[in-house]
Amino acid sequence: MEHFLTKDQEMIRELARQIAQERVLSIRAELDEKEEFPWEIMRLLAQSGLFGVYLPEQYGGTGGGCLDLCIATEELSRVCGGVAVSYAASALGAIPILLFGSEEQKKKYLPSVASGQKLAAFALTEPNAGSDAAAVQTSAVKKGDSYVLNGTKQWITNGGEAAIYTVIARTDKEKGIRGLSAFIVEKDTPGFSFGKKEKKMGIRASATRELIFTDCAVPAANRLSREGMGFPIAMRTFDQSRPGVAAQAVGIAQGALDEAVRYSRERQQFDKPISSFQGIQFMMAEMATLVEAARALVYAVAKAIDGGAKDVSKESAMAKLFASDVAMRVTTDAVQIFGGYGYMRDYPVEKMMRDAKITQIYEGTNQIQKSIIALSLIKEAGLKKTV
Ligand SMILES: Cc1cc2nc3c(=O)[nH]c(=O)nc-3n(C[C@H](O)[C@H](O)[C@H](O)COP(=O)(O)OP(=O)(O)OC[C@H]3O[C@@H](n4cnc5c(N)ncnc54)[C@H](O)[C@@H]3O)c2cc1C
Repeated sequence: MEHFLTKDQEMIRELARQIAQERVLSIRAELDEKEEFPWEIMRLLAQSGLFGVYLPEQYGGTGGGCLDLCIATEELSRVCGGVAVSYAASALGAIPILLFGSEEQKKKYLPSVASGQKLAAFALTEPNAGSDAAAVQTSAVKKGDSYVLNGTKQWITNGGEAAIYTVIARTDKEKGIRGLSAFIVEKDTPGFSFGKKEKKMGIRASATRELIFTDCAVPAANRLSREGMGFPIAMRTFDQSRPGVAAQAVGIAQGALDEAVRYSRERQQFDKPISSFQGIQFMMAEMATLVEAARALVYAVAKAIDGGAKDVSKESAMAKLFASDVAMRVTTDAVQIFGGYGYMRDYPVEKMMRDAKITQIYEGTNQIQKSIIALSLIKEAGLKKTV
């Protein structure tokens, strides 16, 4: 379907597609098998300028927005979800700085993220604070010109590989969600270390690690916005980054659909290609319709963000919910179309099915997305009543 993208956005699509096809495709199975972080691809993406597509020109970006980031993420995901999330998670780490950083903080940190010279990461989750983000216990105690951080963050994408971390920590024990604050922490800060690399079901090229803070002194100048703003910073960040997870899901689903259609024309049973069976045709028709619907929703939400829409929490959650469920359904159906071969690692669709699953879990599970959507509906209904 024609989405009437700008010339720049078409160029981003072409560039990301070319890198995915020419450089990622041939090594994706190996990256998955070896669970190897794709540094070579990250450097290539940096050289191509793709890390800066959503950042303003004054901070080294190319001046695009959320849709530009979604397009690049989608194309990379079409070939490898693990490579794509390593790319997209850097944006997740940088978005809070872009949205809430002072001019000084933006000038100091964003250009190296835009150039891809440094990767960023975002750290909210802890062993006992997953869906319940307000349960964060990592403490940040003000001492002179620093905050001293103690605690651990769990399952942080790009953990150990990134140079810049946006970390949500507790500055006030008594104030619940109002007691959280956000900090920029540099990798080589004394007292900051990493746990082992997690062994995962999917997106295995990406690095997921624990962050450990032991009396880690972070300059007070690295606090984003005011004390107590950690929770709103995390939530506004997710509003802008969830379309990116949704784009990852659309890309994975599109990749699986492409493979399924190709295979259905090649595989012969009963002296015919399996594509001639209506049962297979109907599956592919439904898969293609779902992918188009998911893409249309993701692009619409990204365009709303780029157009300056004020509150996109509900729509962002809808895009992430719908696209990730589509990715799970379409990749599962693709494995079905491949039959027994689909279950084998020699073919790419089992990896796509494994990669798809995480899109229903991270940046808020789909149950949490449904809660966000429902709460928005209830709030909107209340507002209408009082008008
Ligand atoms: C590979 C990977 C990468 C990740 N990357 C990052 C990262 O870069 N940064 C970061 O901060 N975090 C990251 N995460 C963490 C991720 O965001 C959390 O795993 C996710 O938010 C869910 O938290 P949880 O795993 O603790 O699940 P839990 O919160 O324990 O949820 C368990 C189950 O209960 C359900 N549930 C919980 N509360 C409710 C409720 N109120 N209503 C209905 N159902 C509910 C959930 O939907 C889920 O099905 C990553 C996780 C993984 C696996």
